[in-house]
Amino acid sequence: MENCIFCKIINGELPSKKVYEDERIIAFYDIAPKADVHVLILPKRHISSLIEVGDEDRELMGELLYRTAGIARKLGIDKDGYKVVVNNGRGSGQIVFHLHLHLLGGWKRSAEGWKV
Ligand code: AMP
Ligand code: ZN
Repeated sequence: MENCIFCKIINGELPSKKVYEDERIIAFYDIAPKADVHVLILPKRHISSLIEVGDEDRELMGELLYRTAGIARKLGIDKDGYKVVVNNGRGSGQIVFHLHLHLLGGWKRSAEGWKV
């Protein structure tokens, strides 16, 4: 997809700090992290958001969540817990229109509790 910043990362035109890659999925650190650990997990196939997901993507959608859980484990944020967020459409705050899951975690516990 022309002019898609994430497609450019996938095909190597733009740099990223990768944490996972296979034939169908890539994951890299968010450039402006909103948590101590903030990784984006996305399909290599250009799908704008869940709004455009089709029947042919059913298996891929499962794979995305499955890999996200594995990445959280690999990064050691599974013990304390993490969030998975997907923005879909302008009204939700989506700014990059290539479907991606935000994996957020690594919060520190303080005297007042968890700072999420
Ligand atoms: P969203 O609002 O769900 O579309 O989020 C897009 C996310 O992509 C934001 O958290 C941005 O910080 C992140 N982002 C934008 N450009 C890059 C980039 N070149 N490398 C890594 N993350 C990026
Ligand atoms: Zn794209």
